[in-house]
Amino acid sequence: MTEQEQLQLKQNIEAVYERIEAAAQKAGRKGRDIHLVAASKMNDAERVRAAIQYGIGIAGENRVQELLEKYEQHAYDGAQLHFIGTLQTNKVKYLIGKVSLIQSVSSEKLGAVISKEAQKHGIRQDILLEVNIGKEESKSGLDPENLDKILENICKMPGLRIRGLMAIPPAAQEKGGNLHYFDRMRQLFIDISQKKYDNVSMDFLSMGMSGDFEDAISCGANMVRVGTAIFGLRPYMIK
Ligand SMILES: *Cc1c(COP(=O)(O)O)cnc(C)c1O
Repeated sequence: MTEQEQLQLKQNIEAVYERIEAAAQKAGRKGRDIHLVAASKMNDAERVRAAIQYGIGIAGENRVQELLEKYEQHAYDGAQLHFIGTLQTNKVKYLIGKVSLIQSVSSEKLGAVISKEAQKHGIRQDILLEVNIGKEESKSGLDPENLDKILENICKMPGLRIRGLMAIPPAAQEKGGNLHYFDRMRQLFIDISQKKYDNVSMDFLSMGMSGDFEDAISCGANMVRVGTAIFGLRPYMIK
């Protein structure tokens, strides 16, 4: 990285923390109660390490292969690592022991495989359930209507701890366009919190990205996943 790039990254991170603080205050909360996950896909180990040096405490990766390569290069040393992308069941085994939270559990079957692998390692794996809140065919995630039923099954699986919910709403066409989805997520989050399932503690509501994390925070998000506002545009976004 050039010095200029380092400076830019540092400023971006400071700006994101400031925006989080402002949004939290507006919602009568505190910035430090909001967990910032730096979505670091397509950014190399050097950039991830620099981000951690400038105050990022959690890195989030989307692809298992990329995560493993960067893990080997000690990209995440000094930070927590979350998995936030679509996860195939045959890749679960590579993540256990490396990631503190799998945010994207989008099926009962995936929950069962994580449960099995976690037991092999003698650990309890923290997970979030990913909700397909926009009911988009192209997206993975649990159907919000079936959430209770699936939760009843997943919460009985040994080796898992369900820590909350995650959502990636449809790409908003205008500012504030996702508020109603965020609001529905908040409602689901509250409903489940009140039901007291075993092994379920609704600690994290993970929603909001670079374009809309303030809206998400206004609707109760306490974990936001931010990529471009930290690292800049990803190569495929530059025309
Ligand atoms: C890339 C990504 C983000 C961050 O998106 P930006 O718009 O770059 O902030 C958040 N969540 C997931 C699951 C992602 O893949």
